[in-house]
Amino acid sequence: MTSLGDLPLREDLRGREPYGAPQLDVPVRLNTNENPYPPSERLVEALAKAVAAAAASLNRYPDRDALALRAELADFLNHDTPGAELTAERVWAANGSNEIIQQILQAFGGPGRCALGFEPSYSMHPIITHVTGTRWINAHRDEDFGLDVDRALAAIDEHRPDVVFLTSPNNPTGTSLPLEVIEAIAAAAPGMVVVDEAYAEFRREDTLSALELLAEHPRLIVTRTMSKAFAMAGVRLGYLAAHPAVIEALLLVRLPYHLSSITQAAARTALAHADELLGSVAQLRTERDLIVGWLRGQGLRVADSDANFVLFGTFPDRRRVWQAMLDQGVLIREVGPPQWLRVTVGTPAEMAAFRSALTTALKEIQ
Ligand code: PMP
Repeated sequence: MTSLGDLPLREDLRGREPYGAPQLDVPVRLNTNENPYPPSERLVEALAKAVAAAAASLNRYPDRDALALRAELADFLNHDTPGAELTAERVWAANGSNEIIQQILQAFGGPGRCALGFEPSYSMHPIITHVTGTRWINAHRDEDFGLDVDRALAAIDEHRPDVVFLTSPNNPTGTSLPLEVIEAIAAAAPGMVVVDEAYAEFRREDTLSALELLAEHPRLIVTRTMSKAFAMAGVRLGYLAAHPAVIEALLLVRLPYHLSSITQAAARTALAHADELLGSVAQLRTERDLIVGWLRGQGLRVADSDANFVLFGTFPDRRRVWQAMLDQGVLIREVGPPQWLRVTVGTPAEMAAFRSALTTALKEIQ
């Protein structure tokens, strides 16, 4: 019997665990920051038609540069942030923003180079950093999960990273970075600065996107995804906006024909229905603000959230709370700082189930 330990695996991968939140079949799944609303019947029909049309030429490779899709993504971003003035040449797409991040590290990281991030943050940033042979530096967020500019700049000055990761809104805290902080870091960093905006569409009114800064900062990259607000996690479509030269760099590392014709067709159809898909965002923001208020009303600590999830605590034994919730059919996420838990915002009915399960769990742990 051969086991993993018997294989000539890279030394630096030995003992590592694969990434993965539990995919459990329970009634209320609030653990992976998906949008709870499935596509409408009308959209399902449009997707089926588009996929059928793409199927007719599956003997051919897809458009290698996904130009039509990139032009439509640029239009969407220009709508999101008027003044961004993006075009297909400034937008790039891949299989989820995780692949986007991997391509960025393949092009700008690698052996002998380092990437710096501020944890707690999205755990795939350090994982993809390691897998691409890049060294990871954790520069830590502040106690309130924010980022003090002077401390951040001092860390960048000390380590001179080739890539800096900023996540705004941040996962798992939900907190956003003010544009001034991002701008100061973009101005000072010696290498590339990646602002991971996977949750940007959920931001509150006065939170601005880093897309505003792209024109002035050619080494800035803003990444987005259709997995969250767009309710298309199953399509696997992530994208970025940056200077055209950055995209030239990514062309050097991407695999040929990485985005299948089916993916491109599904993503373009979803974009054509953006209004419908993003229609749920207002509802989810309202529901988020309600749950933040309710959790605070229970005497819990809650991080401000610009995302579709909320981090709350603190619990001396968070595993007990998580398990007590799961026993009642509500799956949330044990992630981030040790005494905190994260809940994804679901439908009103799912949030009612969450409130009821947490009320019971809190009584149980007393
Ligand atoms: N960035 C952040 C901050 C995320 O939370 C996630 C999903 N959990 C991703 C990127 C990756 O999303 P996807 O690959 O589905 O686009």
